[in-house]
Amino acid sequence: MAEERIRQIIQLDKKTDKKTKKRIHTALRAAIQISFFILLPSAYTAAFGGAKYLFTQLGAGEFIQWTPFLAALVLLCGYTMLFGKFFCGYGCAFGSLGDWIYALHATICRIRGTKPKRVSSKIMEALSVIKYLILAAVLLLCFAGIYDKTRGVSPWDVFAQLHAGNLKLAGYWAGGMLLGLILVGMFVQERFFCQVLCPLGAIFSLLPILPFFTLRRKKEACIKGCSACTRNCPSDLELLQKQSLQVMGDCFQCHKCMGVCPRQNITCGRSPLRGNEILFTLIRAALLAALCVWIGI
Ligand code: SF4
Ligand code: SF4
Ligand code: SF4
Repeated sequence: MAEERIRQIIQLDKKTDKKTKKRIHTALRAAIQISFFILLPSAYTAAFGGAKYLFTQLGAGEFIQWTPFLAALVLLCGYTMLFGKFFCGYGCAFGSLGDWIYALHATICRIRGTKPKRVSSKIMEALSVIKYLILAAVLLLCFAGIYDKTRGVSPWDVFAQLHAGNLKLAGYWAGGMLLGLILVGMFVQERFFCQVLCPLGAIFSLLPILPFFTLRRKKEACIKGCSACTRNCPSDLELLQKQSLQVMGDCFQCHKCMGVCPRQNITCGRSPLRGNEILFTLIRAALLAALCVWIGI
């Protein structure tokens, strides 16, 4: 029965034309994002909690126990090394919130007949260093054993409280203000927080990622002067060439570039995956959800 279902999805994936495929993939991604946002919203905070716990214990010279937070960190890092930043593109509640806020901006622009303005990729690239500095600062504070003194400043704690329906945020005003500023940034620039500020995203970007799901293009087959894929990429990435051995560590696997390419010139990872993007998106999402539930996130 399951085999038959998979065969049907493969057939659908291979036969469907580009427009329909784009629509199916966009709807599928939205459904996965909403499901994770509602059912597994704490994966982000749990994984980053694992990094903080690790450095706190190291700094205090204490034994490192296998906690659910550490398990979440190891799980998401291992998953990202295998599948790229799929978690960021589909499973992270904070990233999804950013996508929806930016979609609101894009809709307002569309109604007004304008195009959303984008900060240039060079500036975004320069700003992206900030996330590594934030990561280093947080981990140093944990190592020094004084991170707890910053309680109330963390925008992620405020987000977690709000998501849990707790609106009593006394003592969290600084974190609330930072969260407000982050939301403004997310509204103005697509994936602003992920590109510039997210310390967990910084950890993912430092990991070695296997090339199976890295998107590639045949540059020689590109339309002269075309840069539609980069202009529509939330990470401002320039796609790699087919023969390149590099991987794109900041790719969220959103497949927007594939959807806008007028030549269908962009392919996913290695040959068995090509043409089966919908199936592999489903498999990766199901695996991620099963692993999160298994470790008790
Ligand atoms: S970069 Fe950070 S906030 Fe953005 S999706 Fe990834 S983990 Fe979530
Ligand atoms: S648009 Fe393409 S290159 Fe950019 S993040 Fe999405 S999948 Fe990756
Ligand atoms: S959108 Fe397609 S044709 Fe245009 S630059 Fe990207 S890969 Fe090449």
